Amino acid sequence: MKKLIAGNWKMNGSLAANQSLLQEILQGLGQAACDVAVAVPAVYVSQVQGLLQGSAVHLGAQDVSAHDGGAYTGEVSAAMLREFGVRYALVGHSERRQYHGETDAVVAAKAQKALNAGITPIVCVGETLAQRDAGETEAVVKRQLAAVIHAIGACTTEIVVAYEPVWAIGTGKTATPEQAQAVHAVLRAQLAAASTQAAKVPLLYGGSMNAGNAEQLLAQPDINGGLIGGAALKAPDFLKIIAAAA
Ligand code: 13P
Repeated sequence: MKKLIAGNWKMNGSLAANQSLLQEILQGLGQAACDVAVAVPAVYVSQVQGLLQGSAVHLGAQDVSAHDGGAYTGEVSAAMLREFGVRYALVGHSERRQYHGETDAVVAAKAQKALNAGITPIVCVGETLAQRDAGETEAVVKRQLAAVIHAIGACTTEIVVAYEPVWAIGTGKTATPEQAQAVHAVLRAQLAAASTQAAKVPLLYGGSMNAGNAEQLLAQPDINGGLIGGAALKAPDFLKIIAAAA
């Protein structure tokens, strides 16, 4: 399957910085052999939609409301994002789970709302270091993904799943290709139990993926792309990761 390299800008950027970053990325992109996306802060969705017009880079959001609309101060709905050409939305990023108390049920509802609006949810799962040390990695990621599969049923093949071990995010500590592949195989098997089309679901790895380690990670049979934080903010690094996904 075609690989997907998605940048998660997190809470970074400015009008000026976004423009120069994307200009450099689009100039260096050429004919990318993989799908490329950037998930930007909600306030910049409109700006980035304009900057990406006519390019092959897809627009993503970092979150989406679990509600359709109404009295939910501060929330942004899937339908609103779709109006601005948003193609992907991260749901369940560990920073949302950790700092904003998002439960598996909330994450599942967000995935459902994204799908209803024609947005592909990138469902993030991953264990903390304490959970890995306690031998709970498989149980944790399966529980997180199960909640989404249960909520969306037949739409299971329309999602992207990102495995992001919490201990590897922003730490410079990457999972080894073997560690990542082992978890990806678990996720693939779980998807296969829910759908005969499970092989079509892109499984991304995220957590300190960079220009130096991307190629080895992306060479694993069940690693179909990357969700990139820090390295997505530097055009040369992001471009090297895209090239590694060819
Ligand atoms: P880093 O690439 O900065 O470790 O972040 C990964 C991540 O959380 C992407 O969603």
